[in-house]
Amino acid sequence: MGLEVHAHLLTDSKIFCGCSTKFGAEPNSHTCPTCMGLPGALPVLNKKVVDFAIKLGLALHCTINKKSIFARKNYYYPDLPKGYQISQYEEPICEHGYLDIYINGNKKRIRILRIHMEEDAGKLVHENTIETSSYSMVDYNRSSIPLLEIVSEPDIGTPEEAVAYLKALRDVLIYLEICDGNMEEGSFRCDANVSVKKKDVKELGTRTELKNLNSFRFIERSLAYEIERQIDLIMSGGQVVQETRLFNVEEGVTYSMRGKEEAHDYRYFPEPDLLPLIVDERWIDEIHQGMPELPMEKLERFITEHGLPRYDAEILVSDKDLAHFFEETIKLFPEPKTISNWIMTELLRELKDGNVSPKDSPLSPATLSELLGLVKDQTISIKIAKEIFPELYRSGISPKQLVEQKGLLQISDESAIIATIDKVIERFPKEVSDYRDGKEKLLGFFVGQVMKEMKGKANPKLLNELLVRRLKG
Ligand SMILES: [Zn+2]
Repeated sequence: MGLEVHAHLLTDSKIFCGCSTKFGAEPNSHTCPTCMGLPGALPVLNKKVVDFAIKLGLALHCTINKKSIFARKNYYYPDLPKGYQISQYEEPICEHGYLDIYINGNKKRIRILRIHMEEDAGKLVHENTIETSSYSMVDYNRSSIPLLEIVSEPDIGTPEEAVAYLKALRDVLIYLEICDGNMEEGSFRCDANVSVKKKDVKELGTRTELKNLNSFRFIERSLAYEIERQIDLIMSGGQVVQETRLFNVEEGVTYSMRGKEEAHDYRYFPEPDLLPLIVDERWIDEIHQGMPELPMEKLERFITEHGLPRYDAEILVSDKDLAHFFEETIKLFPEPKTISNWIMTELLRELKDGNVSPKDSPLSPATLSELLGLVKDQTISIKIAKEIFPELYRSGISPKQLVEQKGLLQISDESAIIATIDKVIERFPKEVSDYRDGKEKLLGFFVGQVMKEMKGKANPKLLNELLVRRLKG
């Protein structure tokens, strides 16, 4: 498989005019003669788009071409008012890079064939579905939104690898802050070229193209289905036809949409309204200086610098804002593994329950570090800390304040603990004699009883010591 990914760029304005790129505006309110393709209107290239293309090219180890050419890709469709799309064809801005992915801890390198800049088309809107609607409406707000198309070599062998590649690529785009990676809004879309061949055959088989794959789950399912379909077809003596197919989510099958166009169907030629794009060494250097840390680099650093297990590091790095939260908390409470445990269990659970992204977490690194500090200096027990976590998360109140308000201070007063121990010992004479006869496992039972009695506030270490001393009599 080779994948073609389209990423919407986070520029304020469109690629060839000054119209806004903001998602969700009133239909056709972000349009002008240029992005409507009116006669005589001329495109002007948005410099930010070139910056972003170079950024991604550097992140994916590509050659940045000093000269690249925009080309017209001619075809007719109602969402394309000019009758052609401005893209890049023979001389794209970036070529020959790679992205490493990990499958069960094993590295695999996926080569990148090219990255090019192009404009998006408008959007057709239908009542319910395209099959049942009696009319089509066109929204040109999306017309000329800048895109980068990232084309991989056919290095991807399984649906699992495809998803790993897409997730890694999406992470890179988000870390670079050039695309929000939002699949629901169509900011990150994927087409897949799929072909199968017998092991001893060199050439790739005839391929089909799967269009508009827009969730990781559907991508995996549709690729698995298409691979099986092609193998069954060939094994039963049939032949794969080159065509474009769509995935039907409800039925879980792919079906033919149309015969696949060949490049010559598009009558590509150099865009006469735009000069060749020349990028000099200084421009590339400037972008290079401003490159942020990439997900893979961050992952390795979390493992080496903070001593985290790879599993923890992968979860934290999978979301840029979560990684940031982790690093901010370390600055205040320098115990990485403890913080990682709390983030992966308590914090992620609350975020998931409320369907909140880490970026919008109501709990701050300062609050978490204060809470962990209270546990560390034995002001409260871990049990209490976990109990009050949901309230801290929701209210944003200071942990110290909450602990005082609720009277949750850990009890380290020996006489108070001993008094409770004695009460418990009196209540369970049989268990006490069993313990004294050697059933030492019962210690946990007594700890639990005393804790329950003291509402979880006893200092656990002290409780254990006193309890053993008391039971041994
Ligand atoms: Zn415009």
